[in-house]
Amino acid sequence: MKRTQITLSESEIPEYYLNISYYLNKYLGKLPDPPLNPATKQPVGPQDLSAIFPMELIKQEVSLEEKIAIPDEVRELYKLYRPSPLIRAHRLEKMLNTPAHIYYKYEGVAPTGAHKLNTTLAQAYYNKKEGVKTLIAETGAGQFGSALSLACNFFDLKCHIFMVRVSYDQKPHRKTVMQIYGADVTASPSLKTEFGRKMLQTNPNHTGSLGIAISEALETVMKTKGSKYALGSVLNHVLLHQTVIGIEAKKQMEKAGEYPDIIIGCVGGGSNFAGISFPFLADTLKEKNKTRFIGVEPTSCPSLTKGRYQYDFGDTAQMTPLLKMYTLGSDFVPSPIHAGGLRYHGMSPLISFLYNEKLMEAIAYDQKQVFQAGIDFARCEGIIPAPESCHAIKAAIDEAITAKKEGKKKVILFNLSGHGLLDLNGYDKFLHHSL
Ligand SMILES: *Cc1c(COP(=O)(O)O)cnc(C)c1O
Repeated sequence: MKRTQITLSESEIPEYYLNISYYLNKYLGKLPDPPLNPATKQPVGPQDLSAIFPMELIKQEVSLEEKIAIPDEVRELYKLYRPSPLIRAHRLEKMLNTPAHIYYKYEGVAPTGAHKLNTTLAQAYYNKKEGVKTLIAETGAGQFGSALSLACNFFDLKCHIFMVRVSYDQKPHRKTVMQIYGADVTASPSLKTEFGRKMLQTNPNHTGSLGIAISEALETVMKTKGSKYALGSVLNHVLLHQTVIGIEAKKQMEKAGEYPDIIIGCVGGGSNFAGISFPFLADTLKEKNKTRFIGVEPTSCPSLTKGRYQYDFGDTAQMTPLLKMYTLGSDFVPSPIHAGGLRYHGMSPLISFLYNEKLMEAIAYDQKQVFQAGIDFARCEGIIPAPESCHAIKAAIDEAITAKKEGKKKVILFNLSGHGLLDLNGYDKFLHHSL
């Protein structure tokens, strides 16, 4: 009988996160350039970061250990939605009439609807353990904010979220989700910070950006006792936590009796793409196999495909350490596309490094192509994907069409990072030709 869902049991929830830096160090003999202190241009030390992150996360940021144990308390919470299913897209394959086998790992089963909870549960746990009382963060589309709000709720932490204005207006339900879990939510740019007030002076109708919201969150952390900052992507420790996706997917592919030729994920800051890819990339580094890894971004925010690989600030106010990454410039304000989670000027240093080393590829699509792919997918598979995830779907469809032209049975695996049930506004505009 042909299998559609490949599931794992609760006992197969990963016991550790997989650290790609170990493999880069061991098999490539190279690591990404370190973050620099903007004033001294020296690598940032643990003490530079201790004002905003708990020590355990700072350690994970620079760790060269192969595996980092997942705390029992975090695994207990993962049981609410993990292991997530791996699904063979039989109906999509049939619609495309392709010899390719298409699999997707579905992270939309998380209570908040996307992969972000994988890292927020870990981050809330380590902060709580080190005595932190409040977590402060920014959110783009609201996915990270929702996931952080729920994690803070579970670990009895206060939560304050700066939400990019355009998403706050386009996706008001996300604000409600965060408030249900008990968080304070502020539209950014806001009047609550010096930097926000400055932005609003230059443009009272500013649509905001992730870079600006990061600046407001950091400013608030500096002014709030017992608080720390949380980031939903970009940094090594966040990517590390997402490897639960790929560790599970590897086991599931084994059960399906296949190994992917192509692995695809959408890229905003790079965390879900890293999550699905790194456990397979570890094989590639070790065994020199030919698996391709493709990150997919919007043409309106093309950090990998059009950006420059250089040191840049992570935020608009230039408060963060300098990160070596593909960047469009920290003052870049992307157009307000519906895939809010992909509107970041930079890219994770690890993904940037791997792309520069040609161990990963990238492609960009425009918003209309991407929504069409999402609708084709929904009509075949039922799931309405997040606009971010539609980017990965579009690339998977294109690869499956190429496989058909070449007459090759390619195995394609993509990460379906979240569902789009709170993103219907964008779909509505697309369907009624006003996008
Ligand atoms: C946040 C988000 C993304 C983009 O973030 P990455 O760190 O690149 O994964 C993609 N998809 C969804 C559904 C998101 O919520």
